[in-house]
Amino acid sequence: MKIVADLDLCQGHAVCAAEAPTVFSVPKRGQVEILDQNPGEDVKTDVANAVRYCPTQALMLVAEDATH
Ligand code: SF4
Repeated sequence: MKIVADLDLCQGHAVCAAEAPTVFSVPKRGQVEILDQNPGEDVKTDVANAVRYCPTQALMLVAEDATH
């Protein structure tokens, strides 16, 4: 799983940082910064919530190729 942020859409609401503070950081009047591109299982739910609740739908989860 990889997180992709569309900075054309991000308006810095920081909902994502509230949901998953170890994965997203949003400076005051700035845009989202992804701290961890491949977050572990333990924060998966938080990341999913961040994606769901982002008001501008700027976040996407991209499945990585399964190469098991
Ligand atoms: S919640 Fe969405 S719009 Fe707000 S900072 Fe995060 S990515 Fe940007």
